[in-house]
Amino acid sequence: MAKLLEGKPIAEKIKEELKAEVAGMKKKPVLVSIMVGENAGAEAYVKQQKKNAENLSIDYQFQKLGADTSEAALIETIQKMNADSSVNGVIIQMPLPPQIDYKKISQFISPDKDIEGMHPVNIGKIVFGKAKLIPCTAQAVMELLQATGVDLYGKEVVVVGHSEIVGKPLALLLLERFATTTVCHIGTSKAGKLEEHVRRAEVLIVAVGKAGLIKGEWVREGAIVIDVGINRVEDKIVGDVEHEEAFKRASIITPVPGGVGPLTVTMLMRNLIQAAKLQQS
Ligand code: NAD
Repeated sequence: MAKLLEGKPIAEKIKEELKAEVAGMKKKPVLVSIMVGENAGAEAYVKQQKKNAENLSIDYQFQKLGADTSEAALIETIQKMNADSSVNGVIIQMPLPPQIDYKKISQFISPDKDIEGMHPVNIGKIVFGKAKLIPCTAQAVMELLQATGVDLYGKEVVVVGHSEIVGKPLALLLLERFATTTVCHIGTSKAGKLEEHVRRAEVLIVAVGKAGLIKGEWVREGAIVIDVGINRVEDKIVGDVEHEEAFKRASIITPVPGGVGPLTVTMLMRNLIQAAKLQQS
């Protein structure tokens, strides 16, 4: 039987440290959040970010642009934020309307204000183990692993999912800790090899977005399982791992919801405070 690894208590502890850091700063850090068009999911996420920011005495400034905003106009808004020394961090809410390419516009956010850690400069620094602003979800997973007390050195770690925001940066962070890191993705599944890799994992991290993709019986006895996936199934939110069966085999497993999620937004706030400190120094 596994121990449930909840994100909330870890997030609360980090928030207390962040509160103390903000209290010691000369001026309140400022986060500018830009949303283009309407989206109920993004609105809910903005609300959650705002609440978290306010609890930490962070000034959360929200800007909503029309759904017909051009890429050039959004870039201009971003450049204004880059030039404004009172702004410490910028976040562009997803999804964006079809005329805007996130990969393109994210490169216009100054690397110092890129609190999502997605600018090529910040991603590149992860390769050298020198990153200061790291993608929030990857950072959240590393915090959860730290809370387990596991020594990653030489461990068989399998990451399922190789997206730019989760799987790829996470693999680099794990390599930095000398974990023997395998990254699986759609190609692994198509080649019929996903089960074989998952069965080897002493630490399994899944970030795909497909409910029940990882069969509980594939989970290695005593493994640590971090389920990043968020899927809505018949009005319930579930992860990518068959939780009940995996719970019987794992030593530690995160719940969905309540595992990675509460930490992700906390990591965004930590990145903002880090960005403000870097700009002040
Ligand atoms: P994405 O769609 O960008 O990437 C999905 C990845 O899964 C790709 O690497 C793809 O190759 C792989 N994949 C798809 N089908 C597969 C299959 N059958 N077998 C193996 N691999 C397969 O997704 P993302 O943005 O990285 O998000 C992944 C999941 O994590 C989603 O459910 C998302 O909602 C969730 N998520 C949660 C948080 C959080 O804070 N808890 C944050 C970010 C993302």
